[in-house]
Amino acid sequence: MAINRRHFVWGGAGLVAATSLPVAGHVAWGRRDFARPAYDPIPPDPGAEASWMNWSGLQRATPVALEFPSSEAQLAEQVAATPYRIRPVGSGHSFSPLAPGEGLMIDVSALSGLYGYDATTGQARFGAGTRLFEVAQALNEVGRALPNLPDIDVQTLAGSFATGTHGTGNRLTALHDYIVAFRMITPRGEVVEVDAARQPDLFQAGKVSLGALGILTEVTLRTVPAFRLHRQMTIEPVGPFLDRIEALGETHRNFEFFYSPGTGLVAWLVHDVTDGPVTPREAAADDAFLDGLKQLRDMFGWFPWLRRQIASQSFPRGRIEDVTDESWALLSTTRPTRFNEMEYHLPRAEGVATLRKVIRLLDQRREAFFPLEYRHVAEDPAWLSPFQGGPRASIALHAAVDERFDYFFRDFEPLYRAVGGRPHWGKLNTMDQAGAAALYPDFNRFRELRREIDPDGKFLNPYLASLFGERFDA
Ligand SMILES: Cc1cc2nc3c(=O)[nH]c(=O)nc-3n(C[C@H](O)[C@H](O)[C@H](O)COP(=O)(O)OP(=O)(O)OC[C@H]3O[C@@H](n4cnc5c(N)ncnc54)[C@H](O)[C@@H]3O)c2cc1C
Repeated sequence: MAINRRHFVWGGAGLVAATSLPVAGHVAWGRRDFARPAYDPIPPDPGAEASWMNWSGLQRATPVALEFPSSEAQLAEQVAATPYRIRPVGSGHSFSPLAPGEGLMIDVSALSGLYGYDATTGQARFGAGTRLFEVAQALNEVGRALPNLPDIDVQTLAGSFATGTHGTGNRLTALHDYIVAFRMITPRGEVVEVDAARQPDLFQAGKVSLGALGILTEVTLRTVPAFRLHRQMTIEPVGPFLDRIEALGETHRNFEFFYSPGTGLVAWLVHDVTDGPVTPREAAADDAFLDGLKQLRDMFGWFPWLRRQIASQSFPRGRIEDVTDESWALLSTTRPTRFNEMEYHLPRAEGVATLRKVIRLLDQRREAFFPLEYRHVAEDPAWLSPFQGGPRASIALHAAVDERFDYFFRDFEPLYRAVGGRPHWGKLNTMDQAGAAALYPDFNRFRELRREIDPDGKFLNPYLASLFGERFDA
């Protein structure tokens, strides 16, 4: 019988049906132990003001106003005129408190779309509020593509750049490295045009800016000819697989894998360029798979050996997916099940040794069920890029939105920090000013430039003020 992705996805759910009766008494165990205190899926009551929360519901704000300017000129006027502090916001897919602000929150989603394409250079000009899937579609229409994409594609360009959003691949850089030039509204409401030749410092600082230097309105990106990818997904025991990580990363264009805690199994995924025909494929159903893993945890988390045995007998082994499609159709997917996430980028040479420790610890956390994700990202020169100075290996941990994640900070973050790991700016972390200054050679240059551009701290919120060592009087 051919094994395909559907068998893998339903493996979790099927095994639960087969084993539910004898252990029904343990179902309540999971929920009782793991609920996150104060979890509330309802957005904050805005009263007379606006209300905002991020994708996972962890970050919330009731700003004085949430503005959606329809042009760059209107945005510039709003920035110049407001007496309030300002925070730009994209699609709200960051987990860290970068976007929330209690003054003016500004969403540039109306500044969206392909503004121009130069066939001689392959460069494309987009509104900074364009979502990644819109970028992919527009480029495809002119026979072009972005070199890489992250796991999902609903983020805005500006939001993705501001946090160093990345995909995976030994020779592939994070998305901000595609920037050739950008237009930005400064905290004084002036429009600046920035590229490497005219303002080299602002260019390297503004590519990954945490939204602390101003508001991007337009970006010019380098693109590549549209390409097709062949995807293969394989499941196997984690032990021997760990020795092959470096070789797999070198061999394939895009390489990543997921380890499901408590199962002893890894699902690894590679993409390689092909000119073969597009093949039919089933829609991914990550939510059904996650449900299966959660139920396995709820029923057998109390007995790790049994959990592992059942997983090993229920999940298929070997190649479970073998498909070909356009790059943008395969590189990003959807994540219907909401979670909170921590991701650290480690010096590549430290990746596998740290991963071994992380897997050992994760298997001991009986509540963990969301798969860990491991990726490779190539070096780039942006001042606050987590990938500045050398290639990195990224380890991401997730917890369901209604469950605790405090152990990420206590048990895992110290492991990453011990080897010089840098957190994803948009994900959970406790890095402070001293930590950032130690990890980023250009952090203090960025601080000085930020202070020069925004001496009154108009673009600060409490989190950014603390990170940059500035006073914050509300
Ligand atoms: C389900 C899910 C999957 C994800 N997958 C990946 C992944 O595969 N790889 C990865 O690296 N990350 C991933 N992320 C993280 C995500 O890509 C980043 O957090 C990204 O910043 C979100 O973009 P956004 O448009 O939602 O921006 P927001 O989260 O809204 O904002 C992020 C930052 O951008 C700033 N900003 C927004 N607009 C502007 C502007 N016009 N000018 C200047 N600054 C601005 C904000 O002030 C803030 O500092 C994922 C997140 C989720 C929830």
